[in-house]
Amino acid sequence: QTEFFTKKILVLGAGVSGISVADILQQLGAQVTLSDAKPAAKIDKDLSRLKTNGVRLALGNQTETLLDGIDYIVLSPGISIYIPLVAAAQIRGIPVMSEVEVAYRLSSAPIIAITGTNGKTTTTTLLGEILKTTGRQVAVGGNIGAALSEQALTVGPDSFVVAEISSFQLEGAINFKPHIAAVLNLTPDHLDRHHTMAAYQEMKERIFIRQDKNDYIILNYDDVTVRGMAARAPGNIIYFSRRQCLAQGFYVDSGNITLNWAGKTGVICAVSDMQIKGGHNVENALAACAVGYFAGASLENMAAVLKAFPGVEHRIEPVREIAGVSYYNDSKATNPESTIKALEAFAGHIILIAGGRDKNTDLTEFMQLAKERVDHLIVMGEAGPRFAEAAAQQGVRNIHSVPSFPAAVTLAHKLAQPPQVVLLSPACASYDMFNNYEERGKIFKDLVCRLG
Ligand code: ADP
Repeated sequence: QTEFFTKKILVLGAGVSGISVADILQQLGAQVTLSDAKPAAKIDKDLSRLKTNGVRLALGNQTETLLDGIDYIVLSPGISIYIPLVAAAQIRGIPVMSEVEVAYRLSSAPIIAITGTNGKTTTTTLLGEILKTTGRQVAVGGNIGAALSEQALTVGPDSFVVAEISSFQLEGAINFKPHIAAVLNLTPDHLDRHHTMAAYQEMKERIFIRQDKNDYIILNYDDVTVRGMAARAPGNIIYFSRRQCLAQGFYVDSGNITLNWAGKTGVICAVSDMQIKGGHNVENALAACAVGYFAGASLENMAAVLKAFPGVEHRIEPVREIAGVSYYNDSKATNPESTIKALEAFAGHIILIAGGRDKNTDLTEFMQLAKERVDHLIVMGEAGPRFAEAAAQQGVRNIHSVPSFPAAVTLAHKLAQPPQVVLLSPACASYDMFNNYEERGKIFKDLVCRLG
């Protein structure tokens, strides 16, 4: 903690993590300036506490003079490392670190980190529950919940700090070295920022690149790119697979989450006993168990958590059963890939509510699967007409267009007969009708709770 004492630090980005880290560093005796390109009037967060604590604010137009005398830059995940101000800092030799790097330097507890294109929040949350069974204190943060540096300071050395890490946070990783880390998968995403797939992959690899032989890296064997990362991983490599039994690792054997490591074998839990649904969640469970095992959780405790874990809100979240019909909120599905995962999680008999702000995504695969599994497709929002047309082209049955969200829920309720399920999985952003996907999910749950 003393390494930041009296240092002049420029924190870029007045978002959740920027505000937290500015406050923390100032309290640790640094002289902090918080800067954002937005003028004060456009910042929706309360900065009064920072001002009281002595943080200098530099809002609006950012010039290079901000860099004068600065020892470190802390970059918020929302800001690219390629912006001119940061490039200028690097030319001046000023270390540029992410909030996660600060957390790593401040943490007295070992850090456990989860990354990947998809499944981070689910796996990190599940893992947090698993680690609590070890009797140690657990602080979870990063991309979810509170800033990681804030979390890291709340616990002592005998705890675990569990971090959900995005590729953006890894842009500013310098010494960051989690004791145990997992890479869940890697598919093209955020290429607007990382430019190429190779650059995106290189960023993700920073999660393990500083590890040593006492550390563990958990990799998805089924994802060829992730499997190949082993070639550059200095720590102990552990694979998981949901598709095949491995010579060593964590995998599904005869429907069971199975451990096979260093001569020890055992069944943790039957996949059918887990509450979270779908093959993608089997992968998340395998990764969480692998990390949990090397962190000292027992197989029995991991099984108990897997059976009880209800999943994370808005991700195939069970809402209610009405007359034998179950309702699920998958509002987090903001693109067709996510909706495909949800459709795959159910054997069929789905009444699907989809649509919203259209991202002009390719709907072919989505609608081909919908033809197989969806009994009624209810479309809404700006994307409604395009969805209806694409569905009709692929031969999806019973397509209904509705004028509003409540109308979609009412119609689904009217149509549904057991064993059908009603699934909100929009494959679209929410912004045409809601502030965000969380609001969409909450309103859905509200509407469902008021039915029948
Ligand atoms: P993230 O935090 O990485 O966005 P979440 O756990 O919030 O991940 O899940 C978001 C969506 O990603 C889910 O609704 C699901 O559609 C999809 N998803 C979750 N886990 C996986 C996985 N292991 N592989 C592929 N897709 C997944």
